[in-house]
Amino acid sequence: MDESSTQLVVFSDLDGCLLNKADYDWSAAEPMLRRLEHLGVPVVLSSSKTVAEMTELRHELCVPEAPFISENGGVIHWSDSLLPQNEVSTVPAENVATATSRSMILKVLAELKKHFQFRSFVDLGVEGVMANTDLPRDKAELACQRHSTEPLLWDDTDENVFVFRTKLTEHYLTLTKGGRFWHVAGHATKGQAMRQVADRYRETTSRGITTAAIGDSPIDQSMLDIADYPIGIPAVDGRLNVDVDPHRGIVASKDGAAGWAESVGRLLDQLGFDDGNQ
Ligand SMILES: [Mg+2]
Repeated sequence: MDESSTQLVVFSDLDGCLLNKADYDWSAAEPMLRRLEHLGVPVVLSSSKTVAEMTELRHELCVPEAPFISENGGVIHWSDSLLPQNEVSTVPAENVATATSRSMILKVLAELKKHFQFRSFVDLGVEGVMANTDLPRDKAELACQRHSTEPLLWDDTDENVFVFRTKLTEHYLTLTKGGRFWHVAGHATKGQAMRQVADRYRETTSRGITTAAIGDSPIDQSMLDIADYPIGIPAVDGRLNVDVDPHRGIVASKDGAAGWAESVGRLLDQLGFDDGNQ
């Protein structure tokens, strides 16, 4: 398909990509975000953050109405125009579709609590989350509004982690270690969610679509693997923590928002976008 005539859709991670790692500043990417808006290129944000956190961020970034992916692929927040018509009955209120529901995870954890020592977000509450993170109250409240994953503090022995993980596997759940918290989730990935959103865009246009995916860490790899144009953003120390296919991909020369803007600019040049706004 002639890519110059297709609809470009950009999928992007937030922390370390569109937002700088240290200060969450995104001002270096703002002109490029506005250029994409002018070109009618949707930017689908994809992050570990909750729907509540991302709804606020999307407002701050002034990203036009587009679906977004939260909780690392566990949740898709559909926009009204892209709501899958054949799935309307399965998409709950407020356009939020979950791969694995948090209520199911909490049910399993309530059972496992009889045998293991841990405190998840639902036990900690907003006060406990504030005490164990550097989040202020308003941000902690948004982080607690979860749909598809549950972080927890492990208070049991190292050996018991393996038993705990096996028990979770029996319920088709996964356990991964973040910084301080462990995360209980289903098997959704950012890439699977990206594929669903891309398919929906494909259904709504006769032009065909071209996808780009921007990421900086292994959790983004599933998006980069299926994108027509994978884009890797290096860490602050210059190291690249994702694999980018050299035949179709772009690696930014800078970290964070500056690297995001630079690499998207290179992509637009490569695809022949000429909007007189170089
Ligand atoms: Mg990141």
